[in-house]
Amino acid sequence: MKAIVFHQHGDPSVLHYTDVPEPHLRHNEVLVRVHACALNHLDLWVRRGLPGVPIPLPHIPGSDIAGEVAKVGPEVSTVHVGQKVVLAPGVTCGKCPACLSGNDNRCRDFTNLGYMIDGGCAEYVRCPEVNCMPYPENLDWAHAAAVPLVFQTAWHMLVNRAQLQPGEEVLILAASSGVGSAAIQVARFFGARVIATAGSDEKIAKAKEIGADEVIHHGIMPIAKEVRRLTNNHGVDVVVEHVGTATWDDSVKSLASGGRLVTCGATTGYDAKLDIRFLFTRHLSILGSYMGTKDELRTILKLVAQGRLKPVVDKVWPLNECATAHNYLEKSKHFGKVVLTIP
Ligand SMILES: [Zn+2]
Repeated sequence: MKAIVFHQHGDPSVLHYTDVPEPHLRHNEVLVRVHACALNHLDLWVRRGLPGVPIPLPHIPGSDIAGEVAKVGPEVSTVHVGQKVVLAPGVTCGKCPACLSGNDNRCRDFTNLGYMIDGGCAEYVRCPEVNCMPYPENLDWAHAAAVPLVFQTAWHMLVNRAQLQPGEEVLILAASSGVGSAAIQVARFFGARVIATAGSDEKIAKAKEIGADEVIHHGIMPIAKEVRRLTNNHGVDVVVEHVGTATWDDSVKSLASGGRLVTCGATTGYDAKLDIRFLFTRHLSILGSYMGTKDELRTILKLVAQGRLKPVVDKVWPLNECATAHNYLEKSKHFGKVVLTIP
């Protein structure tokens, strides 16, 4: 089969479009003919290499997959050959207390397709049967692949961790990112007022189009100061943080008394300072969040099928142009998802 493979970490030039053997199935696994695979920031980290994360090489990246079941293992009973599926990115043991209580994103064996195991930048990918999710028939392959990782991440942050309530005010950083564009919609769905940030007039217009009530141009206006102005000096109840060092101070300063900062990433760096006096006197909560559960993804896909949540696709490339797509994603010119397709 054709696949994108890298044999060493590095810049996008390490990505090769080449022939590799089709994966062998285990008893409880399915082989999926991939039609679309959406990229995430995670793909860039995996390609560059992460300290302390020994990604097996050679490696096929790609976590967000939509396709058709091509083969099933002998123990598979809930999906059939020819069925259209969206794959849950998280692969877990399915047996530990976390998995059994539905908190599968807390499984100690948690990994994503395309992270510690081969992913979907290929004609075929293998995954456990339980990762097959119902396909939203109102979407084409590219839009279906754009749903899982960012929507489950945004949902888990806002609903599970921050416990967002109707009428609350939320600051969502980087509206143009995959997580940002999903978080805006999830926050609006739960009846929150959304203040987003973006880096250009074009991105500001798009953020408003998908539901942001207010958008701060973060290159021109100081975020925390603008948040104070837009909330009558109250601050926001929840901050969706995934930028890291560059925005951390502003994020903390934007919180209202009793506010919750929830973070799922640090694309600009891991280092952050926190004035502990500010934390306790203002009753703040700092919450970590990682991926989402299969149950949450099932709910999200239902809402997507009803047209109530909409994946935002920026650009689609054929699989063999994966390196071009990585370059594009690294330049942060996109709004929404960058997707690779295999017709
Ligand atoms: Zn587990």
